[in-house]
Parts: sequence; structure tokens; C-alpha cells
Amino acid sequence: MSYNLSAVGGEAFYDSDNNLVSFFFVLYSIAPGSTIQQKIHDQTCFLKSTMPPVRSPFTRLASSSQCSARCGEVATLHGTIKTPVFMPVGTLATVKAVTPENLVDLGAQIILGNTYHLFIRPGHELIKKFGGLHRFMHWNGPILTDSGGFQIFSLQELAKITEQGAEFRSHLDGARLFLGPEDAVHIQEALGSDIMMVLDTCIPYPANRDEAAKATDLTGRWARRSREVQSKTGQLLFGIVQGGMYPDLRRQAAEELIDIGFDGYALGGLSVGEPKELMQEMLEATVPHLPDDFPVYLMGVGTPEDLVEGVYRGVDMFDCVMPTRNARNGMLFTSSGRLVIKNSRYREDQRPVDEQCDCYTCRNYSRAYLRHLFQCREILAYHLNSIHNLHYYCSLMAEMRKAITEDCFMDFRQAFYSQREQ
Ligand SMILES: [Zn+2]
Repeated sequence: MSYNLSAVGGEAFYDSDNNLVSFFFVLYSIAPGSTIQQKIHDQTCFLKSTMPPVRSPFTRLASSSQCSARCGEVATLHGTIKTPVFMPVGTLATVKAVTPENLVDLGAQIILGNTYHLFIRPGHELIKKFGGLHRFMHWNGPILTDSGGFQIFSLQELAKITEQGAEFRSHLDGARLFLGPEDAVHIQEALGSDIMMVLDTCIPYPANRDEAAKATDLTGRWARRSREVQSKTGQLLFGIVQGGMYPDLRRQAAEELIDIGFDGYALGGLSVGEPKELMQEMLEATVPHLPDDFPVYLMGVGTPEDLVEGVYRGVDMFDCVMPTRNARNGMLFTSSGRLVIKNSRYREDQRPVDEQCDCYTCRNYSRAYLRHLFQCREILAYHLNSIHNLHYYCSLMAEMRKAITEDCFMDFRQAFYSQREQ
């Protein structure tokens, strides 16, 4: 007996680890002339191409009705992060000059650790013996670790990139080292970070198209290898969109990563010396091609203005050394712009750094005292300045989340700039 069926519907079910538990087809009424084989083939291809599906850790809570800004949550092993979020950088398993308790008080939700640095010193195996990075550094919130790619390129003039990975020398003792995409995943698994990044190749600016295309293709192949060796630890793995300053390469890179399927998507290779307008153009050329139900992370960016412009264009996560590094150099961020604390005009200034700020530093210390500490190179200067700058960044993100929730992000953005012009 032969059947001609008019419609085929199918559904697949997965357990919490994305294992296929079962799938079934529903075959509807018989109708002469239909092509059941082709339909079954189409359905099977559909299931194959989406297996295993990646369950997004991101939940969208609100969106701007006037731009791409959105507000949501990213679920990780060590808690949920409210986005848009700024992640203070803790390169060597410490956010310089502040304690984890300070970070909690000033509103930091997630911090960043550097795989390259921790791999070289003290070594991921040692950190693993202490139960992972969280226990080693006494931070119980979420941690994102980068893959080490950026440091290999920025610290190593003689790094050699092959299909297998990156050969380089330790910046500490010159020892020959190798890091492949699989190693980067294994090191991050040993560190126990909540969000891991794939190893990527960095493209210098400017770079010709051929150079950018080759590096982008290699990053794609490394991304696939990274996903394949990942263990089922519950740690999230983000892909990194490269592509230099070429919109079509960025789009192609985004499509390849989506095909592999990651827990989130990052934009790498921006803020590398290109004009601001070009960075924004690259954001506009990339973010719309990323799945809008997954987190979007702009790596290594940037100034308060960059954060506002990134959120405006749909970015959820940011990191940058700027608030902590500038704090140690005496440059403080305020709602009306930047303040260089060593300037003689603050010698007798009794006001806090920012009269609109309610951080520990602004509640208790004058500009004159902070200037005095900085001039004397007192250790407390670095601590107090870092607290203020990180608080400024975290508060800026909280204000943006509130503005998006109330659907007045465009008003917020306008007020942000007009305060700076005064
Ligand atoms: Zn303050």
C-alpha cells in the first residue's frame, strides 16, 4: 500500500544538556500527488542543521521603541547579570587596587580575567587546585575570561600564527609557548570562568582586505574547533566576530559563528585605533546580523561615550581597562566630563570629584585631599580613584538599563551629551 500525504510536521525534544531525547513526525491527511519524500528530507535537513540547538542564556526584558537599545538578563553558573553591563577588568585575578567587597558595593555584577596572563602566571593548573578562579581570588559572582588571543597579538611582536594555533614567547621569561583553540578552551575550563571566549586572531588596523579575510577565515575554523572540544561544564562559550573594517567580512564571520552556534556573540578587533565613526559603522554592519535573542558583547571598549553609543546600537556587554587604568593615572570620569586630579585648580577644592556621585570616595573625600594623595603617590590614591571611576561606569550602565526599561533611552542619550557640553 502506498500513501500520499499532504503535510508533514515534526518536533524535537532536548534535555537540559541539549541531548536529543526524542523527535516525532505527524503525518496529516492523505492527498494524492504530494511529495512525502521531499518533505521528510526537508524536515530531516532542518533538524540536522539545528542540532543541537543552543539555548540562549539571554532573556530580553525591555527594548527601546526608537533604537536598538535593549535591556535583559544573562544567566550564568554564578548568577544572573543585568544587561547592558560593564565588566571591570581583573587581568591578574584582581581588579587592580580594589577588593571584591568594594566591587559588590559599587555595583559590579561580573568581572573579567585574562587567560593569557593567568596561563603564564600562576598557571591554570595551580588555580584549578584552589577550586578555580572564583575561590582563588575570593569573588563569587560571574567571571568572563578572554581567550588570550588579543594579548598574544598585542604583547608578542614575534607571535607566529599557524593553522594549529599561536606560537609565542612568554613576556616574562621568553619561554616558548603554544596556544591552540582547544588549549584556550581547556585553560578556561580549568579556571572555571562562567563565560569563556574562543581563541581568535586579531587583525591590525589598518589591514588590507586579503589579510583581513585570511585572519577572519582562520578565526572561524578555530571557533568551530573550540566548540567541538568544549566539555559539558555548564560554562558558556562566546564566538568572536572579526572581519577588520570590512562590513561584508563581518557579516560573513557572523553567519559562520551562528552556523556553529554559540551562547553569545562578541565583536572583536574594534577600538584598535580606527576613527570612532568607523567603529560605529562596523557595529551597525554587524549587530543586525547577530541573533537578537543572544547576548552581544563589544570587546575592550571603551569610553563612557562608547558605552552609550554601543548600547544605542544593541550591545549588551562591555569591558575595558580604562576606568581602572585612568584612575591610577589620576584621570577621573564625572557626569560633566573628565577631571585630571593633579591640576593645581583642585588644590583647595572642597567639593567631591562629582557632586552627583554617591560612591564611597565622593561621600567622604574632597578633590583637594585626592589631589594631595595623588601628588604624594600614596597607595590610597589608586584605591579611592578606582572606586570612583568603576562606580561611575557601573552607575552609567544602571542609568541606561532604567532608561531602556522606561523607554526613554533617546532622552537619556541627549541628556548625557548635553551635561558634557556645559
Ligand atoms: Zn564618586
